Amino acid sequence: MSESPVLNVVRPAPERAELLQWMYARLRDEYGEKPLEPRRDPMHELISTILSQRTNWRDEDAAYQELRTLGDWDAIIAAPTEAVAHAIRRSNYPESKAPRIQATLRAIRDAPGGYNLDFLRELPVKDALKWLTDLPGVGIKTASLVLLFNYARPVFPVDTHVHRVNTRVGTIPRMGEQAAHRALLGLLPPDPPLLYELHINLLKHGQKVCTWSRPRCLQCVLRERCDAFALYGDRVPSFSEKAPPSA
Ligand code: SF4
Repeated sequence: MSESPVLNVVRPAPERAELLQWMYARLRDEYGEKPLEPRRDPMHELISTILSQRTNWRDEDAAYQELRTLGDWDAIIAAPTEAVAHAIRRSNYPESKAPRIQATLRAIRDAPGGYNLDFLRELPVKDALKWLTDLPGVGIKTASLVLLFNYARPVFPVDTHVHRVNTRVGTIPRMGEQAAHRALLGLLPPDPPLLYELHINLLKHGQKVCTWSRPRCLQCVLRERCDAFALYGDRVPSFSEKAPPSA
């Protein structure tokens, strides 16, 4: 009788931290270096990330561009909510996102720095995360993206792809995306360029190889240390259909 594999997910934290470093190196070899350079200004990043929830990047960008045709941030706050919802209709759930975006903008406008968020660069990370997640409509993923992408703060955004790949490989047990932020950050060094590159390359890997359904395990550079591959071979089930390996 063959022995069951010892899964990563039951290994102690230092071993799973080492596994993440190995994944970082493997994915870097596969997809290349990703220098940490802000891709857009912080307010753009913040509002676009809200628009990106359950929306592909083309529709997110189209929604953002049309939103900005309403005017500056003050004008968007003052616009009828229906007009904001119409402007962002390419994003999913525009009726719920429109009032959240207006409430977020209102809270930022009324804060001491106004629409300038640069104070987040100096604030302790914990406080910066709290300030952002206290805004209506801003969750831990959006807050982490703004802090890492715009201010090179040591946080680790976990989107659906980052979450899926890590759960299948077994660096973290099955848990929600929210909880995965803390669990993964606890295993990673406080090194913003590494965190950025790992995030971007995991996202790419989740889009191209470790897809939600029918992951391409035989083409995967992580398969030799992947829990899901050890259990299922190249027949890893769709992410939501069957629980991935857990402790
Ligand atoms: S081996 Fe398969 S399940 Fe594991 S990370 Fe690669 S693609 Fe995903």
